[in-house]
Amino acid sequence: MEHRMPFSSLSEIKARLDAGETTAVEIAQLYLDRIATHNEALNAFVHLDADHVLAQAQASDAYRAKHAPRPLEGLPIAVKDIFCTQDGPTRCCSNILDGFNAPYDAHVITRLKEAGAVLVGKTNMDEFAMGSSTETSAFGVCRNPWDVSRIPGGSSGGSASAVAAALTPAALGTDTGGSIRQPAALCGITGLKPTYGRVSRRGIIAFASSLDQAGPMTRSVRDAAMVTAAMSGHDSGDATSVSDAPELDWLAACDKTDMKGLRIGKPKEYFVDGMDAGVRASVEAALKQCEALGAEIVDISLPHTEYAVATYYVIAPSEASANLSRYDGVRFGRRCDEPEDLLDMYTRSRDEGFGSEVKRRILTGAFALSSGYYDAYYLKAQQVRTLIQQDFLQAFEQVDVIATPTSPVTAFAVGEKTDDPLTMYLADIFTLALNLAGLPGLSQPCGMVDGLPVGLQWIAPAWREDVLLGAASAYESATEWSSQTPQAFAANGGES
Ligand code: GLN
Repeated sequence: MEHRMPFSSLSEIKARLDAGETTAVEIAQLYLDRIATHNEALNAFVHLDADHVLAQAQASDAYRAKHAPRPLEGLPIAVKDIFCTQDGPTRCCSNILDGFNAPYDAHVITRLKEAGAVLVGKTNMDEFAMGSSTETSAFGVCRNPWDVSRIPGGSSGGSASAVAAALTPAALGTDTGGSIRQPAALCGITGLKPTYGRVSRRGIIAFASSLDQAGPMTRSVRDAAMVTAAMSGHDSGDATSVSDAPELDWLAACDKTDMKGLRIGKPKEYFVDGMDAGVRASVEAALKQCEALGAEIVDISLPHTEYAVATYYVIAPSEASANLSRYDGVRFGRRCDEPEDLLDMYTRSRDEGFGSEVKRRILTGAFALSSGYYDAYYLKAQQVRTLIQQDFLQAFEQVDVIATPTSPVTAFAVGEKTDDPLTMYLADIFTLALNLAGLPGLSQPCGMVDGLPVGLQWIAPAWREDVLLGAASAYESATEWSSQTPQAFAANGGES
């Protein structure tokens, strides 16, 4: 896959840096110029300190002059506004975190710095990562570079938009119910959600702690592997970070060019009436291509799929209502003016600071956890969650990997679903079951419908990201979908 700058992959930039053809400072400057030219149209970055980016790049060049380069030496990576970074603000795109500066870096940020990456600004997202369109951000709507009248998906929409428009070659996202994979699909890039417990959650602002995982959003499958390898690893500061996670040879997993012997499960519940016909046709064509590469397609069933959305929308808000109770006007960010007493301070700070979707989640979650309804909602949802996990375990007795569409539709218009939360929740119908089961998932481009990208989702057993990467690499090497670039942002350098 050949890309032209600035639409290069991390691997291509790395090769040029390692060959001495360019410097980290030159690369950083190129993307800073791109951001200066194009961010106004997209609103993908909500915070950027250009001097700080250049200082990191200079430090990387100085390191390279003296030492062997580290795995991500000099490579620019943008960061979703949900990751705590000591440098600059961390807002989770919420007004309630106005004025908050994190006292420490998230564990994954530390790891990326140790790997030599140059961290580039903070990207736009739905407030507290609650949404599928990046329209609930306190910093305003983010746009899709394929058509700026459309949403980029969410909640990591800023990261997806920035990578798709080559304002950065890679970015970090988080995925609680699809927030890496769905925007990756809608923006025509690759997104990987690791197995729950592979990546530390310390320093990532919590939404639903039993579901949240961080991962990369990139221009190629190999890039996703490079970044995940650098991010992952045990952290004693996160009790759910797994200490004996099986080690993988991340890059070797991406050498696959065929699918000989691979059994791919095609779940009937993910190919349903009501989904976009063009999306369906693209994914069916992708599966045909997989057969041509040597895979066997096996029809399977994941029978509890129809309950996944309802289950998720009890569990995620329940956990969110507990996690968000810490924003009380005392400890973080914004406090209301002239409170009458303590209760007035709590309630007014929260009322003024949270947007309406976040309030909806807190209310739903607090209701589901309340004493009279706990058994009927929260406990029931946890039981169904177990059934959904078992569906996957049974499926993986028959197949190595599962392939589905990532999203039932392509990018929708800004404002199209904002008045109807339920339709917005259905945007994640194909992505959130695997979060409930803790499994790894990857979305990669597999087609275009009316000028808008379509995503193919791979789901693997826990700890088998190598299987996802192998299947996705073979598919990527046989097709051109990952090399598509949005024409409006195609010009080189800063000029548009
Ligand atoms: N769209 C889903 C939600 O609103 C998932 C969000 C996410 O993965 N962070 O909860």
